[in-house]
Amino acid sequence: MNDTDGPRSESETGSEAGSQHDFWAAAVADEIETRNPEEPIVIKGGVSPSGVAHLGNFNEIMRGYFVAEVLRSRGHEVRQVFTSDDRDPLRKLPRKLADAEGTIVGLGDVDAGALGRNLGTPYTDIPDPFGESESYAAHFASLLKADADRLGVPVEMVSNTELYEDGTFEPVVEHVLERVATAREVLGKYQSKVDGDYVPFNPICSNCGKITETVTGVDLDAGTVDYVCTDMTAGGDTIEGCGFEGTATFREGKLPWRFEWPAQWQVLGVDFEPFGKDHAEGSWPSGRDIAENVLGIEPPVPMTYEWFTLNGEALSSSSGNVVTVPEILELLEPAVLRYFFALNPRRARDLDLSRLDQLVDGFDRFERAYFGDVDDESITAFAKRAYPYVVDDVRAERIRLPYTFAAVLGMTDDRELRIEMARNEGYVDDDTPEWAVEAALNRVDRARAWAERMDNAYNYRIQETLPEVDVDDDVVAALEDLAAFVAAGHDGEAIQGEMYETARRHGIEVGDFFEAGYLLFFDQPQGPRLGEFLGELDTEFVVRRLRREG
Ligand SMILES: [Zn+2]
Repeated sequence: MNDTDGPRSESETGSEAGSQHDFWAAAVADEIETRNPEEPIVIKGGVSPSGVAHLGNFNEIMRGYFVAEVLRSRGHEVRQVFTSDDRDPLRKLPRKLADAEGTIVGLGDVDAGALGRNLGTPYTDIPDPFGESESYAAHFASLLKADADRLGVPVEMVSNTELYEDGTFEPVVEHVLERVATAREVLGKYQSKVDGDYVPFNPICSNCGKITETVTGVDLDAGTVDYVCTDMTAGGDTIEGCGFEGTATFREGKLPWRFEWPAQWQVLGVDFEPFGKDHAEGSWPSGRDIAENVLGIEPPVPMTYEWFTLNGEALSSSSGNVVTVPEILELLEPAVLRYFFALNPRRARDLDLSRLDQLVDGFDRFERAYFGDVDDESITAFAKRAYPYVVDDVRAERIRLPYTFAAVLGMTDDRELRIEMARNEGYVDDDTPEWAVEAALNRVDRARAWAERMDNAYNYRIQETLPEVDVDDDVVAALEDLAAFVAAGHDGEAIQGEMYETARRHGIEVGDFFEAGYLLFFDQPQGPRLGEFLGELDTEFVVRRLRREG
């Protein structure tokens, strides 16, 4: 592929841009423009329907989105499409599925028997396991579409089956079958299974509904193929054919994937398509060759992206190591998730849910850089280019509470107390517009959800009323001292240090003293770094609670 990378920068931020350009998507847009494409410019991604539409599927949608947005900002009309390879046969049972809300369920929660009977059948001919959409494929596509809407990405879902049924693919099928010798020769360079009998068309058996791979004759004048419904091997297993001998039109079957992908480029007029590393080594080289030497078209501008891992492991719906878009949006603002995909796609990265605070901190820094508040030229240049596509509106008065601080505020449901704490830390003042306060508090709910999901150091609840706590007299006296120290006005770090001093002065175990504090504030014997936490709360409330007055 055309490598647009300049010399790699060694710095963490410098490599985010992805090229000598400040933003990788701008470099890709340049490359598309040099071809003088017809309008609308078509940007494609694609997916094979599987059990769960997860965040990994969004690599292509989001990478395509940024390129589309850059082109739109340059005045081009852009159509972003996402094809579902839904005429593909179901080759094995998924272990997990996602329901219409994106909740992941096991096969035991659906009609798994119906799925088992449909092995070998195109996804569009298999009933929706949840009984809601018109097919398994439609269910999966609607999940992706809903998730794209949640991220504000205007993507058009395209069904392969529809392109076959409405005749869009028909001329391409005919073209390939007319040049079957050339087709064999070209694909044979990439796949050893291609022999002199190979026919690049897989009809659907009109008797059992399964995809068949054994074509016995082609009649170009009639526009049909003859077939025998033989067994198909899929991942080491055999899916039995019914033995039926029949005839199918060019609309009643599918091109094998290696031909189908370039056929999509042709019929949809695709100008750009990002894809994962697996395709870069497999179907991209053959696809380009087939496009140029069988179909006679120019393949789209390609871009290979690195897969990201989730919590250090490969994303896998079968092993359950997945996160869906609705799930991640309970933890992150949409802009932060868009930022994740705006980062250099050629760099492998990990989405570590336990350290989402680092991702959010990175986003906050990126945002500050856009407004010129970060002294780092490389991130500032990247932010200047990419930030407007990451947020819905560029608004300078926005407030971002650091994610871990937002998690601290999430320890109370009391809105006023949250605002008070934000005010104490200097994030909010009398001039802060109401919308900015609301937006800031929005992050608090997400950080709260994160604390609960991870059950981490922020997963505590401030008790709004005084819990019943038994404390010894010497602890009472120490609490009284601490209350006086807090009342005098000290920051969290000072309070934390003073807690050790106070315990020592009163001859009580430090652990016992902290435990009394945790019980008073959380009704639990442990919690976060207490002194620092108390420093963020309303002083009067802390003093009252330490004195056990309310
Ligand atoms: Zn059959």
